[in-house]
Amino acid sequence: MGKIIAIANQKGGVGKTTTAVNLGGSFGVLEHKTLIVDADPQANATSGVGFDPSQTKNIYDCLINDVHPSEVILTTENPNLDILPSHIDLVGAELEMINMPGREGLMKKVLDKIKDKYDFILIDCSPSLGLITVNALTAANSVIVPVQSEYYSLEGLGKLLNTIKIIQGRLNTDLDIEGILITLYDTRLRLANHVVEELKTHFQDLVFDTVIHRNTNLAEAPSHGSTIIMHDATSKGAINYLNLAREIIQRHEANKLKEENNKISL
Ligand code: ADP
Ligand code: MG
Repeated sequence: MGKIIAIANQKGGVGKTTTAVNLGGSFGVLEHKTLIVDADPQANATSGVGFDPSQTKNIYDCLINDVHPSEVILTTENPNLDILPSHIDLVGAELEMINMPGREGLMKKVLDKIKDKYDFILIDCSPSLGLITVNALTAANSVIVPVQSEYYSLEGLGKLLNTIKIIQGRLNTDLDIEGILITLYDTRLRLANHVVEELKTHFQDLVFDTVIHRNTNLAEAPSHGSTIIMHDATSKGAINYLNLAREIIQRHEANKLKEENNKISL
C-alpha cells in the first residue's frame, strides 16, 4: 500500500516542487512506483515532468466532479513515475469545496482509489495553508517540510507546525512529520550554516541527514520537462535527491519491519 507524503510549507520558493519532482524521480529510478499529486494551481510539477497543464484533465475534475483518478493520471518518461496533474482551475476548487460535505477529506477519497498501485505518493502543496493544503495533510501519512537555509525561513515554521498539530488533533491522528529538509544550501554562506545548526538544535532527529545543495542543474531541469535524474543523473542535485530517497526508503522499511515484529510478538 502506498505511503502518502505531503510536501508542505506555506512559504513559496523553498523547494517544494523541486523536491516533489526530483524525489519522485529518484524513487522511480530506485524502482519504487511513485505518483506525484500536483496540488498547486500553478501546476509547476505538472510542467516540470513535461506536460502542458492546459492540455490535460486534472485534479480539479477528481476533487469536484468525482472523475476517477486513473482517468487523469499520466505516465512520465520515467516508467515508475506518474503524475496527477493540476491546473489553474484549482483556485476555484477551494471555494467550491467549502460547501461540500466532508470538505477536508475529499483528496483522501480520491487517493484511496489508487493508492494500492504505488509505493509512494508525493503531494506537492501550494504556498498556502488553505483548504487544499488541509486536504493534502488529511490524506497524508506524513509530511516533508522543505526549509531554505536562510534566516527568514525559520519564521512561519511555527505556524506550519501548529497547523500540522491541529490536523493531527482533528482530522488525521496518524499524521507524522517525515522530516524537515534543508534546501538551497550554500556551503559558502556562514548564515546558511548557522540556520542548519539552529534547526538541528530545535528539531534534532526531525531534520533529514540529507541536505539539498544549491545546484543550477536543479533549476534548469524543469525547462527540459524532465527530472534531474532523467536529465543529468551525475549532477550534485541528482545525487542529493537520490540520497534523500534512500534515507526515506530505509526508514520506511525499518518501520515496516518493526510493525511486523510487534504483530508477531502480540
Ligand atoms: P516552491 O515549490 O516551494 O515554491 P520551487 O521548488 O519551485 O519552490 O523552487 C523555487 C525556485 O528555486 C525555482 O526556480 C527552482 O528551480 C529553484 N530551486 C529549488 N531548489 C533548488 C536548488 N537546490 N538549487 C537551485 N535552484 C533551486
Ligand atoms: Mg511549488
